[in-house]
Amino acid sequence: MKFSTKAIHAGQEPDPSTGAIMTPIFQTSTYAQTGLGGHKGYEYSRSGNPTRTALEDCIAALENSEYGLAFASGLAAEQAVLSLLKTGDHMVACDDLYGGTYRIFERVLSRYQIETSYVSAASTKDYEKAIRPNTKLIWLETPTNPLLRLVDIKAIAEIAHRHNILVVVDNTFSSPYFQQPLELGADIVLHSTTKYINGHSDVVGGAAVFKDKEVYEAVKFYQNAAGGVPGPFDSWLTLRGIKTLAVRMRQHEENAHTVARFLSEHPRIEKVYYPGLASHPDHELAKRQMKGFGGMVSFQFTGTLEDVDQVVRRLQIITFAESLGGVESLICHPASMTHGSIPREIREARGLTDTLLRLSVGIEDAEDIVRDLEQALR
Ligand SMILES: *Cc1c(COP(=O)(O)O)cnc(C)c1O
Repeated sequence: MKFSTKAIHAGQEPDPSTGAIMTPIFQTSTYAQTGLGGHKGYEYSRSGNPTRTALEDCIAALENSEYGLAFASGLAAEQAVLSLLKTGDHMVACDDLYGGTYRIFERVLSRYQIETSYVSAASTKDYEKAIRPNTKLIWLETPTNPLLRLVDIKAIAEIAHRHNILVVVDNTFSSPYFQQPLELGADIVLHSTTKYINGHSDVVGGAAVFKDKEVYEAVKFYQNAAGGVPGPFDSWLTLRGIKTLAVRMRQHEENAHTVARFLSEHPRIEKVYYPGLASHPDHELAKRQMKGFGGMVSFQFTGTLEDVDQVVRRLQIITFAESLGGVESLICHPASMTHGSIPREIREARGLTDTLLRLSVGIEDAEDIVRDLEQALR
């Protein structure tokens, strides 16, 4: 099956007992057993639930794997993958990470003497230099958040595998529609399904997909042992959202192109970050590694923090809020919101200034989005 067909059908057969074509919401915590060891594959809903299984199989299929796990949030998925590490291990990560990922590395993992070295996202050879004898994972996000730099997954996977290191790619910003990291050599793909995968800003969720069965089994053990699982209703909503993933992503991208072009010509905009622009430093890599450039556009404004505040207050269609990937356009101020947990000096050194805004371009009519930006900037 090709992508859109999988998005609609993978993991989902009509319900055998009724013929219902939608996977039912199995709102149950436990399952009747016929006798000792006698059950139909489900015993307790932390360990497994049929609605969640359908979601896990569908997301795995979209990443061309059979091994998927769903979680209560993107960070719960991260924590489960990080359970592969033990005290004294080391990680290499790209430096332009989601703020919450940075926080779990620096404030939770560090308590277990698990140290992370950060490498400038696009400098492929620096990843090898950062490897130590105890390095167990390389953690990548591409395109990065919020500066939308690209990391060369294939080149880094080759380096990692020479050293027996697993490569994790947070694929939240592209969705599997535009980028399939396992095909490029990654070992684990992560998603905050809260974003494009669900796509309707009404669920918080996460997923991890694995190339190898053994790594999958180890994280599945942790999923059951620690229990950060999504409930049946959230699993069902996410499955429902996935059905339109392909058409949504195509429209997000088309609109993002229009918005990026508009912003690049606007006199108050100093810099536009969008991998689809020929001026973007990683445009060539984006063309090679991704099937499209996605729906996220960041831009730097000429002016003060007060000007930025005025602009976001004047927007009428675009909502000023955290998160991304929903059908509606959202704008956020990374320095005070998503990346507020990163110390200021570190933030600014990475180009994450006070006048940077990050726009998740929705699938409203592009003319309306542009007109809204135009009036607010004026
Ligand atoms: C939102 C996000 C996360 C965290 O996911 P939650 O669902 O909010 O826990 C991780 N990585 C990226 C890139 C994100 O955008």
